[in-house]
Amino acid sequence: MFADSHCHLDFPEFAERIDDVLRRMHENRVDAALCISVTLSEFPAVLALAERYPQLWATVGVHPDYPETDEPDVSRLVALADHPRIRAIGETGLDYYRLTGDLEWQRERFRVHIRAARRAGKPLVVHTRAASADTIRLMREEGADAAGGVMHCFTEDWPTARAALDLGFHISFSGIVTFKSAQSLREVAARVPDDRLLIETDSPYLAPVPHRGKTNEPAFVRHVGERLAEVRGCSVERIAELTTANFRRLFSIH
Ligand SMILES: [Zn+2]
Ligand SMILES: [Zn+2]
Repeated sequence: MFADSHCHLDFPEFAERIDDVLRRMHENRVDAALCISVTLSEFPAVLALAERYPQLWATVGVHPDYPETDEPDVSRLVALADHPRIRAIGETGLDYYRLTGDLEWQRERFRVHIRAARRAGKPLVVHTRAASADTIRLMREEGADAAGGVMHCFTEDWPTARAALDLGFHISFSGIVTFKSAQSLREVAARVPDDRLLIETDSPYLAPVPHRGKTNEPAFVRHVGERLAEVRGCSVERIAELTTANFRRLFSIH
């Protein structure tokens, strides 16, 4: 069985299609998926999926790529996270690629999420793009190791992975590891310890080979697992087993 540690099934790409998506998950032995919140206004739709379908779980948080949105504070995040289907805080983090200029608000928002995760006793789902040094610095300054979590859709170098691992974090790989151009990322993926490895789709984005360019969905996480098995020199069953065990332990899904 596989688990997709990061997807956005509330996005419009999946409207009216959720039954097909769940059927293909089942056919491909993907028995759990974590639905990720990106804004507070869309959070109720994310939670509704997790309340309705037993194989779906949810997070609460505000993504760094949304400058003009309802800004969360620590107590609000902690209150929203106090729900049996909410298993993490995020996605949160830093993104200096999509947005430029003075991004102090992004760093402040990230700090708020780390404090909320610590207070809620739930792990963090961290997004980082073109901002790895500041991401690690803020995680250290705010004591993110007390919450733990995952560096999702990881595309950074080995020193960044090592720093996140040293803070007790997991590293999640997406369909990017199947892309021809991603040789250096595959080298990083080969080095992540078994007990810290996760897989994800980041659906509807980043469909893996052989579905590249299509709408991604949790069933395709299998292809990420297959590529990681090649890279790490083990069977796909072994990758499925260990990434699902890590997913269940990190997000307390039993
Ligand atoms: Zn992300
Ligand atoms: Zn995401």
